[in-house]
Amino acid sequence: MPAQIAINGYGTIGKRVADAVAAQDDMRVAGIAKTKPDFEAKLAVRKGYSVYAANRDAVAKFEKVGVRTAGVLEDLVKGVDLVVDCTPEESGYKPLYEKAGVKAIWQGGEEHALTNLSFNAAVNYADCIGASFVRVPSCNTTGLIRTLYPLDAHFGIDRVVAVMVRRATDPGDSKKGPINAIEPELEMPSHHGPDVQSVLPNLNIHTIAVKVPTTIMHLHTVTVDLKKPATGDAVLDVWKRFPRITFVAGGDGVKSTAQIMEIARDLSRNRADLYEIAVWKDGVHVVDRTRLYYFQAVHQESDVVPENVDAIRALLELERDGRKSMEKTDRSLGIGLAG
Ligand code: NAD
Repeated sequence: MPAQIAINGYGTIGKRVADAVAAQDDMRVAGIAKTKPDFEAKLAVRKGYSVYAANRDAVAKFEKVGVRTAGVLEDLVKGVDLVVDCTPEESGYKPLYEKAGVKAIWQGGEEHALTNLSFNAAVNYADCIGASFVRVPSCNTTGLIRTLYPLDAHFGIDRVVAVMVRRATDPGDSKKGPINAIEPELEMPSHHGPDVQSVLPNLNIHTIAVKVPTTIMHLHTVTVDLKKPATGDAVLDVWKRFPRITFVAGGDGVKSTAQIMEIARDLSRNRADLYEIAVWKDGVHVVDRTRLYYFQAVHQESDVVPENVDAIRALLELERDGRKSMEKTDRSLGIGLAG
């Protein structure tokens, strides 16, 4: 029988995780929970998901607009094997999950300290097998880990300095900005560097972040001092052996994140998502034998989605081999077909 999975919070990340879970044969969506009966709740009903109100007070709001609920979150979590919590940061559901004796996965808005275990399928799947609680780090952090881990494993890394050019908000959000400004994050390092260390504790990384008026994709410019000499081709060969990294080329007309999202649309995936990290292969440069520069783009709404599916398998011990889990997830989502 497939594992029963609840999704608490059905926004940008939650609705994608729900669809990815529904695409697997070893797990199913038992229900989704929301605070508001908005258009996303109505679409969830149309998709056939059982909708639960986040709390008893919210039930009347759902009923008033004709969204039938199957109960409240508390009922949902009692009957499932695991909750994927995709609510905004610090929503505070840990005591509820603990009381119900249910396993849970949180997203990158939460601090590492909430679970003391942050997950990346390629790096630490084995360490998370059977765990009760993990956190999947944020989109930017996951993006950095995807390309830095292979480099560290193969060449060794002395030091990383990454500058993150961050999207202002998600496409479905019209409240946040900036809309006509460039906003430096004055905290140094930005929170991303320490967050990468929640999965790769020995990596010497410094991060700097700037927010710009775009809604799709972050762009990272990364400088890495490698321990062993390398060439650009050798670096690309290492990345090609790892899943969830794809390659684009300025020479093919991919001059910006706009063309990368056009590729994602042309692939006709669910919601035109790009789960892979896109690296410009003609933007990879090695100087003085050990200094590597590269650019990568991160589709913030979707890169963490396959990680959530693998984290479910690890926690519920549905698969003990991380590679096999990643392959299964990637096949189901069409990952690997981009480039
Ligand atoms: P979102 O605002 O798009 O969605 C949040 C959902 O939770 C909405 O459906 C909202 O109605 C619901 N919700 C709000 N309060 C709730 C509560 N108390 N109980 C139950 N449901 C509640 O947020 P998001 O962008 O999907 O972010 C969710 C998490 O994922 C955060 O930790 C965030 O940092 C992380 N994350 C976001 C992105 C991104 O780019 N959007 C990328 C990676 C990780």
